Amino acid sequence: GMNRKVDATATPLVTFQDIGGQRAAKNELIEALDFVLRPRAIERLGIRPLKGILLTGPPGTGKTLLAKAAAQYTESVFLAASGSEFVEVYAGVGAQRVRQLFRDARSLAKREGRQSAIIFIDEIEVMAGRRGQHQSHLEYDQTLNQLLVEMDGMATHEDVRILVIAATNRADLLDPALMRPGRFDRLVRVDLPDREGREAILALHTQNKPMADDVDLAVLARETYGFSGAHLESVCNEAAILALREGNDRITMAHFKAAVDKVLLGEKLDRHLSR
Ligand code: ATP
Repeated sequence: GMNRKVDATATPLVTFQDIGGQRAAKNELIEALDFVLRPRAIERLGIRPLKGILLTGPPGTGKTLLAKAAAQYTESVFLAASGSEFVEVYAGVGAQRVRQLFRDARSLAKREGRQSAIIFIDEIEVMAGRRGQHQSHLEYDQTLNQLLVEMDGMATHEDVRILVIAATNRADLLDPALMRPGRFDRLVRVDLPDREGREAILALHTQNKPMADDVDLAVLARETYGFSGAHLESVCNEAAILALREGNDRITMAHFKAAVDKVLLGEKLDRHLSR
């Protein structure tokens, strides 16, 4: 066996409502997905089918959540992989894994009785950087070429339609061939949340937590400029841990403020260490 770790959950239970903020990204994505949902009309009108969507933006902003929600919305099976899984020392192995991933998508969809599959590839820049610029460029080239071959070969009339959603925070590193028509020709920006988005994300991650009356999410949203959704999730989790430690059965505003400081400090340490 190839021993590749594919995280294949038939259809994830994430919906667009579980994603805070990101209104523009959600709208653009849903608009593109409506395309996917109407293959007959697309074919009749001779419209080029949508094969790939590229999500770009900083880490922890909800790109994976969006891809999962896309699978839920289109009732597709969902397969997740990371660009780094396709990078191997031995020539041809990466390309073989790409081929296998598409095969897996088709067979999983058939097994689950679904007509479509979404393949999510995180950190696509690792396998699809500009060709000819890597050290072991031959291997990378074969892997990227195989991805392009698979996408070029996808057709609307197949019994399982495949949509590839890729994510990157380094769109500048991507091989331009990836963005040609019929490949990743939709680009959706997933930015850091604005104040309103941060408040929505905080609300989502506190909805099942016991909150003291003094907690004001609007204030917290104002004081967390620059935080990603992942940071905000950490804030809510840390605040709950602090409450637990104090033997408090409700989370107070003081817990949240301390949690914000803790997440900020952790972020600074991370930056310092990665220098
Ligand atoms: P990476 O680039 O690091 O893979 P990503 O953009 O794919 O990050 P996700 O994996 O989707 O980010 O998000 C990580 C976690 O952060 C989520 O599981 C969720 O808890 C929280 N999160 C991020 N963005 C949002 C959001 N918009 N709404 C709610 N939760 C969010």
